[in-house]
Amino acid sequence: MKIICIGRNYAKHASELKNEVPQEPVFFLKPDSSILQKNKPFYIPDFTNEVHYEVEVLFRISRLGKNISTKFAPRYYSEVGLGVDFTARDLQQELKQRGLPWEKAKAFDASAVLGKFISLDQVEDLNNISFSLKKNGELVQEGNTKDMLFNIDELVSYTSKYMTLKIGDIIFSGTPEGVGEVMIGDRLQGYIGEQLMFDFMVK
Ligand code: ZN
Repeated sequence: MKIICIGRNYAKHASELKNEVPQEPVFFLKPDSSILQKNKPFYIPDFTNEVHYEVEVLFRISRLGKNISTKFAPRYYSEVGLGVDFTARDLQQELKQRGLPWEKAKAFDASAVLGKFISLDQVEDLNNISFSLKKNGELVQEGNTKDMLFNIDELVSYTSKYMTLKIGDIIFSGTPEGVGEVMIGDRLQGYIGEQLMFDFMVK
């Protein structure tokens, strides 16, 4: 399986990192080796001095498809979840400046935290999901999928032009503003609405 991550999908997050608001979706991949299953501790890797959390709403692909139209996109995912796109921000800034690919900063082991998934019928409106991240009990990120520049159907359609979506693939739909650093000993808890989706420690 593959993980497709959307970059700069919330205007306020794009501007906090001084990036342009994109005209079309920006995406990159994480390999299956980057998965950290829910509630396992995250160990800060030794090749970075600045790991950032990015809380994101996830969608799990439930049907094989390519060149999917926006209209038919809802047939291709069946579950929604919450996760963290851990990013070695120091490496990413350096790679960006040099015009190099981001994999070292984004695709390392345990960089894709998968929380709980719930079926779509537990969510009233996919384009109005409020979600949040607490660090050590304090609210650090808060978002709503209505603020995504490209909604899930547009993301499914766009990414499937370039690569076949397969059953089990996961889309990380982008992070809202408020990204920041994690330190050893931090506890991260993610919520969709009031529902706890993950709760783990940084070591
Ligand atoms: Zn992200």
